[in-house]
Amino acid sequence: MNVTRRSLTFFGATALGGAALGAPAWASVPTTLRAVALQPTGGGGVRVALALNARAAVNTFFLSGPDRFVIDLANTRLELPHGAAGEGQGLGFIRRFRHAPRPDGNARLVLDLAGEARLVRQDLGGREDPNIRFDLAAITLNAPQRAPQEYLGRSAPRRTVVIDAGHGGRDPGAIGATGVREKDVVLNTALMLRQALESRGRYSVALTRDRDEFVELEQRVRFARAQNADLFISIHADSHANAAAQGASVYTISERGEDRAQSMVSAQNWQIDLGEAPRQGVARDILVDLYQRETTNRSAQFAQTLIPRVGEVAPLLRNTHRNAGFYVLLAPDVPAVLIETGFLSNVADERRLTDPRARERLAEAMAQSVDTYFAGPQMYARA
Ligand SMILES: [Zn+2]
Repeated sequence: MNVTRRSLTFFGATALGGAALGAPAWASVPTTLRAVALQPTGGGGVRVALALNARAAVNTFFLSGPDRFVIDLANTRLELPHGAAGEGQGLGFIRRFRHAPRPDGNARLVLDLAGEARLVRQDLGGREDPNIRFDLAAITLNAPQRAPQEYLGRSAPRRTVVIDAGHGGRDPGAIGATGVREKDVVLNTALMLRQALESRGRYSVALTRDRDEFVELEQRVRFARAQNADLFISIHADSHANAAAQGASVYTISERGEDRAQSMVSAQNWQIDLGEAPRQGVARDILVDLYQRETTNRSAQFAQTLIPRVGEVAPLLRNTHRNAGFYVLLAPDVPAVLIETGFLSNVADERRLTDPRARERLAEAMAQSVDTYFAGPQMYARA
């Protein structure tokens, strides 16, 4: 596992006594900040995710000389694994973090930056998911650039995409109106997608199967994790008793699936690299949960990129972005989508899915959405 890419960083270090720092007695119950995770967003950007137990009002600003990004959380207690105040390791152009409670009951986080940065995107949390996220991108980098340079490299990192052709071997999947088998159609599409991605020279592409063979679902997920996949795309074709049902649809993991993923993490003893995180206990659970949420968010981001592109070359099912607990979507650390490319039980869809030119257009549309997904925030104007 690539530690730079995968690691979650804690605000670690020494706890200070927080005696006078609690919220005033008349204030409402303070929110608790329980974990902080740093993850690359592609293109050298970094996502800062804050795990909170409830919504918190947040105020952010940049400071220069030296460059910093400051996050103030109103009426918030810092119950980070290593205490209320301290500092922790950075990632990319974020050199380190410092955090401490403020006398007014607010919490302050300071990100020390290697140069000027900008806020690309923010998610300030909602009732259902109070976690807060900031996507930051560097604008300029001040010397010395050692660590960030190393991380950023000269060109964007090579991304690994795992393509999963559904079914295979003794499992034919859906059977079309004229006897076309899903396992053949999706394998062909998977091979075309591989070709489209490889021709770009920017991706490492691996297939869970590249011939007509049976592969267990669990094996497909294990394979994706073993490849350190940045993205997992499972390709299927539907069938329905109603021959009029037509169009493609895209699935990402559902809430219920998330629970299942969590229990699989323990049941299958999957190792998730949590950096300096403790091996067990509540803090670990919170981090795994945060990590799972980030993966779910990224899966949804890719789905939102994929759907309109596919819609340009194929009809879409109504409410085309659906949530499901499909087994192959359950890896907690690999963003994953499952695309039903159409209905083999529908004559028009079947014709489209077996037409080499239409398949090629579909594969190219999917490859373009992979490009968009990884392009991420626009990075690094000249220093
Ligand atoms: Zn299928």
